[in-house]
Amino acid sequence: MKRHKLVIIGSGPAGYTAAIYAARANLKPVLFEGFMSGPAGGQLMTTTEVENYPGFPEGIIGPELMAHFRGQAERFGTTIFTEDVESVDLSKRPFLVQGSSTKCEAEAVIIATGATAKRLDIDGAREGEFWQKGVTACAVCDGAAPIFRNKPLFVIGGGDSAVEEAIFLTKYASQVYIVHRRNEFRASKIMADRAMKHPKIEVLWDSAIEKISGDQIVRKVLVKHLKSGKAEEREAGGVFFAIGHQPNTGFLNGQLPLDGAGYIKVKPGSTYTNIPGVFAAGDVQDHVYRQAVTAAGSGCMAALDAERWLSSEGID
Ligand code: NAP
Repeated sequence: MKRHKLVIIGSGPAGYTAAIYAARANLKPVLFEGFMSGPAGGQLMTTTEVENYPGFPEGIIGPELMAHFRGQAERFGTTIFTEDVESVDLSKRPFLVQGSSTKCEAEAVIIATGATAKRLDIDGAREGEFWQKGVTACAVCDGAAPIFRNKPLFVIGGGDSAVEEAIFLTKYASQVYIVHRRNEFRASKIMADRAMKHPKIEVLWDSAIEKISGDQIVRKVLVKHLKSGKAEEREAGGVFFAIGHQPNTGFLNGQLPLDGAGYIKVKPGSTYTNIPGVFAAGDVQDHVYRQAVTAAGSGCMAALDAERWLSSEGID
């Protein structure tokens, strides 16, 4: 089995940035970019225009930005495996990393597996019901599908994702409803204003979808007004969850301490976890900022932390 100085798990802005820095520091990093677990490149792969990543005054399409990250990581000699990591053994060094087909040892590990969109357990939204048959958690990935064309579509949530996805869906829908459990948005004012002004978007405040029904595809939703308790059935072509994300830590099998929301705990101001030689970067350890640029920044920090730690251990 091959032993590497540094294995990076995850391929969003954090993972690729860690790889760029580590490769330039001659650590010859190996990066598992994922496969079945989600698109390599992370959440930006399912985004359209990214307008707030510095250096791109006209904006850049998410997948294009990630292709640049990946290309830069490869240019400096990162070895990339298009595989999921199924498990790790962090109980002793060298650590063991088990990919879908590659198994290797690592002197140090950077975890940058990001977070996945959350879903709600609503009647009709489960696997075997209408999940992926009109119910999804990614408007940008699925919204252009023919089943959603010229239909009323429902987005659940009140954050920037919900608003962004609602605006995106107006391209295809006859009408977009944002169903939010409170009477004010969590989304930034600029995004919220854009949605409120859009002629095709209506916000259903203090509301929740209680049931999704249909035949082969979604046809109706039951929307409940949470304050009055009144429920109303509405015609629907699709339901999109936009209620935040769950950090991807399942493969760790409890080997690292997580905070109450499931994010990996790191020593404040660093990427050190409580296991020497194991570092965490990006959304898997950040419940506060969760931006591409902050993820990239923490990927850089993780590579520098790992490089210094390896050197302090005499592994150069
Ligand atoms: P978020 O800010 O955590 O918002 C999640 C929304 O879902 C909240 O409105 C929340 O309601 C609602 N929600 C959560 N659990 C729910 C439940 N069980 N039932 C019903 N509603 C529920 O998540 P996000 O919108 O995905 O954004 C995450 C981060 O990414 C934020 O920092 C955001 O600014 C950023 N982001 C930025 C952009 C952009 O700049 N273009 C785009 C997308 C995301 P409450 O408000 O009542 O808690």
